[in-house]
Amino acid sequence: MSAHTDRSSAVTVLGLGPMGRALATAFLEAGLRTTVWNRTPGRDADLVAKGAVSASSAEEAVAAAPLTVVCVVNYDASDAVLRQDAVTSALKGRTLVNLSADTPARSRDTAEWAGRHGIRYLDGAIMTPATTIGTDDAVFLHSGPEELYREHRPVLAALGGTHTHLGEDPGRAAAYDIALLDIFWTAMAGYTHALAVARAEGVTGTELAPFAQGIAAILPPLFTEFAADTDAGTYSGELNPITSAASTMAHVVHASEAHGIDASLMRVIEGQARRVIARGHGADGFTRVAEVITGR
Ligand code: NDP
Repeated sequence: MSAHTDRSSAVTVLGLGPMGRALATAFLEAGLRTTVWNRTPGRDADLVAKGAVSASSAEEAVAAAPLTVVCVVNYDASDAVLRQDAVTSALKGRTLVNLSADTPARSRDTAEWAGRHGIRYLDGAIMTPATTIGTDDAVFLHSGPEELYREHRPVLAALGGTHTHLGEDPGRAAAYDIALLDIFWTAMAGYTHALAVARAEGVTGTELAPFAQGIAAILPPLFTEFAADTDAGTYSGELNPITSAASTMAHVVHASEAHGIDASLMRVIEGQARRVIARGHGADGFTRVAEVITGR
């Protein structure tokens, strides 16, 4: 029996935004029988042309496969789809994988709801853009019952890339997602601010970019070093004490504001560093901030 006709290799995708469409495309390209549904109709024409089955309702879609992947904007949206009586009943005894992004608490709540309704539940997070899906560059994080993950791993593998099961706590994939998004968005905010300050100084983004990449290249070993430092609570400032770091932050604030550029983000960061110094930890490294912001 080919993957295309084997019912155990059938999959349903609920949600056809850019990511849902990419997931459905990858399943189709892997030869899986793929049923699709989206709240707003008409978003599946090209998927149907590639062989997808278009369901007229979410419950019809769920009934078509043992595994349903839902990928919508957040868990308010996935609740709106899944917690309708007909959909919940159709899911009973089947497996649901929620790849929508939200908080760990929402993931745990959804797992608890699924358990009450006899739905086998895995949570997950996608860490790479829609364009990576189906390629080696895709990164998926999963959490929930390991046995269930292993059972569906062959179908999920059709999405390409790296899949990591992080543990039984259903909120764990979302916990990683939140921490990694924290890094991503603060880095993006720093970079867009840097581009604005550089432009005000007559430096184009293209001129700055190679040097920005040099800064980015410093970060991977620092991430490893800071993680160990923070886990151990040593906050070593031997090579770069926070007094010195705070001084460079002040330079960014002054240079930005001289051009009328909002420096509130760097003011917050400098403020955190100054609090560390005020508490007598001026010889420590920047990682001591982790204590100040958690109120320890
Ligand atoms: P969006 O986050 O914009 O989600 C769009 C999808 O959500 C559509 O299917 C939309 O349906 C549906 N939706 C929104 N509100 C509701 C609702 N109340 N009820 C039912 N469906 C609803 O686009 P993406 O597809 O890109 O993202 C989906 C998820 O994937 C998000 O959680 C996102 O964070 C995550 N993700 C996306 C990445 C990307 O590169 N795009 C990268 C990594 C993660 P409709 O068409 O009817 O509006």
